[in-house]
Amino acid sequence: MRRAIFPGSFDPFTVGHEDIVLRGLDLFDEIIVCIGTNSSKRSIFTVENRIKMIRDVFKSNSRILVESYSGLTVEFAKEKEAKCILRGLRTSADFEYERAIAQVNKKMTEIDSVFLLTKPEHTPVTSTIVRDILLHNGDVSSFLPAGINVLDYVDDGWNTK
Ligand code: ADP
Repeated sequence: MRRAIFPGSFDPFTVGHEDIVLRGLDLFDEIIVCIGTNSSKRSIFTVENRIKMIRDVFKSNSRILVESYSGLTVEFAKEKEAKCILRGLRTSADFEYERAIAQVNKKMTEIDSVFLLTKPEHTPVTSTIVRDILLHNGDVSSFLPAGINVLDYVDDGWNTK
């Protein structure tokens, strides 16, 4: 069984993330999308709602699992017996950031990182931009996986915090 983890904040999960996971299924038998809970980033979606949203996106695909984790990503990968960390690359800035993390992860463990380049049309899609649009009551549907209504996953009072 070739299993990978796809770690991230996914605040929220976008079409860019979805595409990386679906293409990753050609490389791996199983992918665990995992939400890191120890990030210093401020989030607008709760971890529970992010898990629910991503499970809804992939509800008909039993090869994709969704979990949250805390602590080191490589420790979570080892716990899940995953040999690879899957990540998406949009820009050279992403590459430089990811390169250091992947090399350190490899030094600490035997876990390799596998990178897929984003499709050109997804390059500008970031969770940060989607959050900004949302906070100003804009329509984010074209940046989210098909069939996802973002308002189903926000808690009352979310945009007043
Ligand atoms: P993190 O907080 O770890 O950067 P993100 O949720 O922002 O997590 O992203 C998770 C992974 O998805 C990262 O590898 C990131 O580069 C990748 N990613 C984010 N947006 C896109 C996109 N539009 N296309 C392809 N990959 C993306």
